[in-house]
Amino acid sequence: MKAHIVGGGFGGLAAAAYLIRNAGVSGPNITIYEADDRMGGGFFLGGSAESGYNLPGSVFDSEFRCTFDLLQTIPSASNPAISVKDEFFTFNTRHPLDDRARLIDRNGKIVHGPRFGLSWHDGFDLARLALTPEAWLDGRRIEEFFSARFFSTEFWLCYSTVMGSLPQHSAKELRRYLNRTLHMFPYISDMANIWRTPANQYQAFIEPLVAWLRARHVNLQTGVFVQDVGFAASPGITVNRLDIERDGAATAVTVAPDDVVLLTFGSQAADMSVGSMTAPPQPQRAGRSWALWKRLAQARPDFGNPDAFFGAAHVPDSHWVTFTVTTTGTEFFELMSALTGSETGRGGLVSLIDSGWLLSLSIFHQPEIIGQPLGTYVWWGYGLFPERNGNFVPKRMDACTGAEILEEVLRQLRFDRQLDAIMASSICIPCDMPYVNNIWLTRTRTDRPRPVPEGSTNLGLIGQYVEVSRDVAFTIEYSARTAWEAIQLLLKRGPAPPSVYQAQWDPKALFAALKVFVCPTTARP
Ligand SMILES: Cc1cc2nc3c(=O)[nH]c(=O)nc-3n(C[C@H](O)[C@H](O)[C@H](O)COP(=O)(O)OP(=O)(O)OC[C@H]3O[C@@H](n4cnc5c(N)ncnc54)[C@H](O)[C@@H]3O)c2cc1C
Repeated sequence: MKAHIVGGGFGGLAAAAYLIRNAGVSGPNITIYEADDRMGGGFFLGGSAESGYNLPGSVFDSEFRCTFDLLQTIPSASNPAISVKDEFFTFNTRHPLDDRARLIDRNGKIVHGPRFGLSWHDGFDLARLALTPEAWLDGRRIEEFFSARFFSTEFWLCYSTVMGSLPQHSAKELRRYLNRTLHMFPYISDMANIWRTPANQYQAFIEPLVAWLRARHVNLQTGVFVQDVGFAASPGITVNRLDIERDGAATAVTVAPDDVVLLTFGSQAADMSVGSMTAPPQPQRAGRSWALWKRLAQARPDFGNPDAFFGAAHVPDSHWVTFTVTTTGTEFFELMSALTGSETGRGGLVSLIDSGWLLSLSIFHQPEIIGQPLGTYVWWGYGLFPERNGNFVPKRMDACTGAEILEEVLRQLRFDRQLDAIMASSICIPCDMPYVNNIWLTRTRTDRPRPVPEGSTNLGLIGQYVEVSRDVAFTIEYSARTAWEAIQLLLKRGPAPPSVYQAQWDPKALFAALKVFVCPTTARP
C-alpha cells in the first residue's frame, strides 16, 4: 500500500507522521507532493538577516491535543534528547506571557477596565451564541448576536486581534471559538495562558517534523503541483491517478485501489506576496492553492464549495498585511519595554486600537530565528484592516512599502524622536495575505467536505477547509485533526483522534470565565 499526500503544510506533514506512527505505513511508501519550493505551507520562514526576514506570528494553547500528541514523538531540533512538545511546554512554563499593555489608545494610554468592558447584557449575548445549536447558525453573522457597543469593548478588541474575528464573520465559527477558548477569558488581556513557540514556527515545528520524516525515508517532493485527480468508474469514489506538473512538464502517477490519497484543500497562505523596504507587495491572484479543490468540487457537490472561501469578492473580509522587522538597533525594544512595562518577549500582542489599519505588534522572545546573528533582533506585526488608510501615512496598508508601514507604526507609538535611528537600523518586510482570515467567512454546513466523503474507498481530505466537529480552523491543530481523522476512517488502524477540548464542560474553566462577570478584580490592574 502506498500513500500519496498532496500539500506539505503542517496538515500534510502530520498526515505522513500519523500514517507511520498510527497506521504502520512505512516511510518509503509515503510521498508528499508540495507545489512550493519548501515544505511548511502557512508556517514559512523567508528572507535573511541581511535582506530582512519574513514569517508569520502565531499563538497556541496547551489543548492542541492532536498536535502535541504528535509532537511528543518528534525530537526537538535544538535538543534531540527532548521532544518538540516538551521543549514547547517547558519554554511556555518558564517564560509565560505577562502582557501589561495589550491595548494602547491614540494617546499612548494603556486601555484596561473592569470585566474587560463587558456588561451583563454582553455576557448574556455571549452565552446565547455559545448555547445556540450550530445547525441553526448556517450563514449567520456575528453582528446579528451582539449590540454595536460590544464591538468596541476591551474584550472584543483583545479577542478579535488574537483570533482574527470581525463583526461580519461567521457566528458558527465564533460559537466554536467561545466553547473552545472559554478558559482563556480571564487571561484575554495578560495572555498568560496563550502560548507561543520558543523560536519561529518553521524552525520549532516544521523543520523537526520534516527531519523525522526524512529519517524514515518519506519521499518529500517540492515544486510539484497536483493538477487533477482521476477516478475509477467504480466502486464509489476511488482515485486511480494523480496528474502532476513539475518544472513545466506534466506526468501522471498511477494510484492502486488499495493506496490512499490525502488532498489538502486550499491554504490560508494562498496568493501571498512579499514586498520590501522600498516596494509594496505586488498582489498575486493565481489561485493555485485552491485550484484542485475547485476542479473537483465542480464535478461533485459533496466535495464542498471553495467559492465560499476563495475568490476576489472575499478578499476585503479575509485580508491581512503582516510585516516582519529585522533590526540591528536596540532603540525600538528599549522604547517598547518602557511603554509596555514588559521585558522583551514577555509582552504578547500589543494592539494600537485607534490606528486605521488596526495594528497589532508582537515583540518576540529573542532570538526568534535559530542562527540569527548576535546583535540582530526580530519583531512582527499585522494590520487587520489593510484596505483602510493609515493615520500618518495616508495610504492603504496593502499599497505601502515596508518603510511606510514602519513609519506609521513608529508614529502611532509616538516614537517620533527616535524614528530616524530606528528606520536606519531596521528592515521591514511587508507580506500581503489576501485569504489568511477566510476561515472566518460565513459558511453553511455543506461548504466544507468531510475528511472522508461518502462512498470514498481511498480518498481523504485534510486541512482547514474540511469539516470536523467542534474544532476551530485558524490552527495547525485543525489541520492535524483532519489528517488523523481521515487516516483512521479510511484505514481503520490506530486510535481515533482525542476529543476536542471544550471549555464549557470544564468546571475550572467555566468558573474562571464566570468570575470575569461577577468579580471585576479578575481583570488585572
Ligand atoms: C499569518 C499566519 C498566522 C497564523 N497563526 C496561527 C496561529 O496563531 N495558530 C496556529 O495554530 N496556526 C496559525 N497559522 C497556521 C495556519 O493557520 C494553519 O493552521 C496551517 O498552516 C495549515 O496547515 P495546512 O497544511 O492545512 O495548510 P497550509 O499550511 O496552508 O499548506 C497547504 C499546502 O498545500 C499546498 N498545495 C495546495 N494545493 C496543492 C496542489 N494542488 N499541489 C501541490 N501542493 C498543493 C500549498 O502550496 C501549501 O503549501 C498561521 C498561519 C499564518 C499564515
